[in-house]
Amino acid sequence: MNKKMIKALNEQIAEELASAYLYLAMANWFEDNNLPGLAHWMIKQVEEEQEHAFKLREFIIDRGDKVTLATIERPTESWESALAAFEASLSHEKHITACIDKLSDLAIEIKDHATNVFLMKFVSEQVEEEKTVADIVAQLKLANNNPGTLLMLDRALASRS
Ligand code: MG
Repeated sequence: MNKKMIKALNEQIAEELASAYLYLAMANWFEDNNLPGLAHWMIKQVEEEQEHAFKLREFIIDRGDKVTLATIERPTESWESALAAFEASLSHEKHITACIDKLSDLAIEIKDHATNVFLMKFVSEQVEEEKTVADIVAQLKLANNNPGTLLMLDRALASRS
């Protein structure tokens, strides 16, 4: 692949793993704050982000190029509320969407059709990711820190498979 493309795809591996790391911190915070359902939901999110990183890794290898790992920053580890954590998750997903869009822009610019097709799954997945997290943010706003409503929501999110 084009050198710029390889570099950008490798950077995205770190972005996906940084997402996993942030969501792991959120899962820990939910556990500490007696919200095991939200913690469970976030652990599933961690697994998804790891999968994204692995898919990128595999694609780079399949194209005959080299995977290079970057430094991953320590994430924020506490939030003011469950709502604040999910709002942080939503803004993080928006950042990831912007990263994926940039990758797609580059693939199109350099006419790398294989990478462009590969990235399409990520582009549509981001629509889903943002919607899912935005829905939970909206429900947490409705709950307005009411313990009963929060516990109901926690039960509902505990069932994510
Ligand atoms: Mg991702």
